Amino acid sequence: MTVARLTIDLDALARNYAFLRGEAGVETAPAVKADGYGLGAQDTALRLWREGARSFHVARLEEGEFLRDAFGDRDATLYVLDGATPGSATRLEAARLVPVLNSLEQAAAWTGPAALHIDTGMNRLGLSLDEAVRLRDRAGIRLVMSHLACAAQADHTMNGRQLARFRQARALFPGVPASLAGSSGIRLGRDYAFDQVRPGVSLFGGGPNEGPDPRLSAVATLEAAILQVRQVPAGDTIGYGAAFTAETDLTVAVLAAGYADGVLRSAHPAGAVWFDGARRAILGRVSMDTIVIDVTGSAAAKPGAMAEIIGPNLPLDDAATAAGTTAYELLTRLSGRAERRFIGAA
Ligand SMILES: *Cc1c(COP(=O)(O)O)cnc(C)c1O
Repeated sequence: MTVARLTIDLDALARNYAFLRGEAGVETAPAVKADGYGLGAQDTALRLWREGARSFHVARLEEGEFLRDAFGDRDATLYVLDGATPGSATRLEAARLVPVLNSLEQAAAWTGPAALHIDTGMNRLGLSLDEAVRLRDRAGIRLVMSHLACAAQADHTMNGRQLARFRQARALFPGVPASLAGSSGIRLGRDYAFDQVRPGVSLFGGGPNEGPDPRLSAVATLEAAILQVRQVPAGDTIGYGAAFTAETDLTVAVLAAGYADGVLRSAHPAGAVWFDGARRAILGRVSMDTIVIDVTGSAAAKPGAMAEIIGPNLPLDDAATAAGTTAYELLTRLSGRAERRFIGAA
């Protein structure tokens, strides 16, 4: 019996890609860092290639090499957001990766094709505008990019400020394609789209403002089987720390998924799962291998029956909010323990 299963729906991924590309109206270059947001960089990127994507963004050198292995001789442009880190040049070159240069030191250390990351106010990675000026005449710049700090809040004043600075920055590099928006930035409108957008989380079903977006399809479905059904009399407690006390007699089910599978401990006390047509509260603390849910009144609660922890009935963003986090963190914390299966071709 399969006790925990992660289903990755590549057809849903393809629908999300088509939707985002339609919204942006420009080249749509998937961000598939952190192993494709936990769902498998190679399978997701290969499917996105079939859907027309030709450029991809990853964070690490190793992630770029891993994608290059999958792509073989397909002519995909693979950007590495860490840039040309010390000692990486030989490997970047061997895997034909395009580093996103973040500093003048990196620009000095790498002479091959590159993207430039210009900081427009986030103060994370990137060259200042003054530093970028010094690279105006550099050969081989394939893309000029920046990243928005507050795109998830559409009315935040940072968005307009960063847009204005990015326009100044890109003007230094006439004719070079420019890219500013990720998933949330796409929703800010076509002023933000420039020549290329870089969505990640929304490809995988996460909404652009950290809430569910009904126009996106669920790509990840995590399910776990009921291991045991038990009666808990009023006054009894459930789980470690006796953190939950039953106020009435309850029927509960113990599911075969816990924090070692990616059900965050912070899913207690607000979290729920979907079972037998309804949301069912998670009762008590999340254990390493199990959670306990309220199935009072459900005739379907039997060992082996599957409950949905995230998926089409329990949107990623709702599960994330209940756990005090984001869809990004939930996805990237999914572990390799659940059995994985794919729907649709890579
Ligand atoms: C992660 C990342 C993206 C993708 O962001 P989403 O919010 O997941 O769409 C795009 N650009 C950069 C620089 C990133 O680090």
